[in-house]
Amino acid sequence: SMIKELKTREELERTYQELQSAYQKLQALDEAKSEFLDIASHQLRTPLSAVKGYISMILEGDYGRVPVRIRKKLENVYQSNERLINLVNNLLNISRIEAGRIDLKLEKTNISELITGIVEELQVEAAKKGIKIKVKKPKEPLLVKIDISKMRQVFINLIDNAIKYTPGKGEIEVSIVSLVDKVQVRVKDTGIGLTAEDIRDIFKLFCRGQTGSRICAEGSGIGLYVSKKFVELHHGRIWAESKGRGKGSTFYVELPVENK
Ligand code: ADP
Repeated sequence: SMIKELKTREELERTYQELQSAYQKLQALDEAKSEFLDIASHQLRTPLSAVKGYISMILEGDYGRVPVRIRKKLENVYQSNERLINLVNNLLNISRIEAGRIDLKLEKTNISELITGIVEELQVEAAKKGIKIKVKKPKEPLLVKIDISKMRQVFINLIDNAIKYTPGKGEIEVSIVSLVDKVQVRVKDTGIGLTAEDIRDIFKLFCRGQTGSRICAEGSGIGLYVSKKFVELHHGRIWAESKGRGKGSTFYVELPVENK
C-alpha cells in the first residue's frame, strides 16, 4: 500500500505540473490577445476619426453645397462610421479593463442632460426603423459623480441595443428616476425580449443571446460586458429583466449618489 500511495502522489504531482504549465500558456495567450486588441484599436481609431471629421465638414457645407441625394447617403456613411467608432471604443476598453488600466475621471454631471443628448444622437437611427424614443426625467437636475465618457459609452450601448433588438416598429422608453441614495436609469424596449438563460449570460464577454444573434448578425457580444465593468467601477449595478421571448426587455443601471 506504501508503493501504491507513492505512485498516486507521483501522479498527482505530474498532473499538477501539467496544469501549471497549461495555465501559464493560457495566461501568455490572454496577454497577447489583450495587447493585440489594444494596438489594433488604437490604429483603427485614428482613421475613423478622420473620416468622421471630413464627413461632418462636408455635411456642414465647408466644401460647397451638398445635393440632397448625396447628403442622405453621406448621413448613412456617418452613421456607419459612428457604429465602427463605438465598436472600436468597446474593443479598446476590453483590453484596458483586462489589464486593470482603467482610471475614472469623476465629474459632477447632470445625468438627465447626458442621456437626453445621447437619445438625440440615436434618434435618427431609431426613426429609420419606425421606433419612437421617449425620455422621462425629473424636472430638477440630477447630479451624479461619473466619468462622463465611460457612462456615455454605457448608455449608448444600452439604447443602441434597444434599437437593434427591436425589429420593425416599436417604442423605447428611457426613464431617469431619483431613488433614496441612488439614481436609476431604465431602458425599456418592445423588442425580442430575453430568456432566463440570456439574462444570466449576456453580460459575459463575447456572449450573445439566443434570439439576439439571429436578429442582428453583426453584433459582437462586447457592449454589455464593457458596460457592466464600467458601472461596477462606479460602484453601481446593471441588470436586465424580461417577461420572455418577444416580450421586450428592460435594462437597469443604478449609480450611487453621495451627497445630493
Ligand atoms: P451585441 O449586441 O454586439 O451582440 P452586447 O454585449 O451589447 O453585444 O449584447 C449581448 C447580447 O445581449 C446580444 O447579442 C443580444 O442577444 C442580447 N441583448 C442585448 N440587448 C438586448 C435587448 N435590448 N433586447 C434583447 N436582447 C438584447
